[in-house]
Amino acid sequence: MYEEILEQMQELLKDEIKNFSGDFGKLEQEVMAMMMSFGKGLLQRLVDCGPNGYKGCSMPCECNSSMKFVQHRPRDIHTLFGWIKLKRAYYHCQDCRASLAPYDKSSGLGSQQLSPGLAKACCLLAVDDSFAQTSRKLEELFGQKVSERTVERGVHQVGSVALGQQNQELNTTFAVRQ
Ligand SMILES: [Zn+2]
Repeated sequence: MYEEILEQMQELLKDEIKNFSGDFGKLEQEVMAMMMSFGKGLLQRLVDCGPNGYKGCSMPCECNSSMKFVQHRPRDIHTLFGWIKLKRAYYHCQDCRASLAPYDKSSGLGSQQLSPGLAKACCLLAVDDSFAQTSRKLEELFGQKVSERTVERGVHQVGSVALGQQNQELNTTFAVRQ
């Protein structure tokens, strides 16, 4: 199975490979571009057939009323492989006007457009570089255009998740002590 897939990939690249005349760097780049494209397609497929946060036609709301399922709403996520589309269940409460897409929380995506992987890359690079330099490096390394402003939001996003985990660890520690 694995060999078969590799053979098909090799076949797809055969024309490009002829033009490289033994240039390893170009070959590496071409394989990388191909893997990114496959990665994006695979991720999109896995997301399409995975959970989408649907909890039936209604679910309890914090105001003690209930939230009604409205529709499956699309959302764009910027991943290490490029942009993919999510369709997740969207609920609305007519009494307090709150709305919720349960998948946003359960998937760990939150409300940001960056995927966890791309947000982490932003953070790692932003430790030593400005947001502008980080934006340039993300494009150089992953071929992903992420604006300075989005890099900044991504850094805060990962920061708050890390803080949340720390709080959870603290809570667990206290719970064990009690
Ligand atoms: Zn409500």
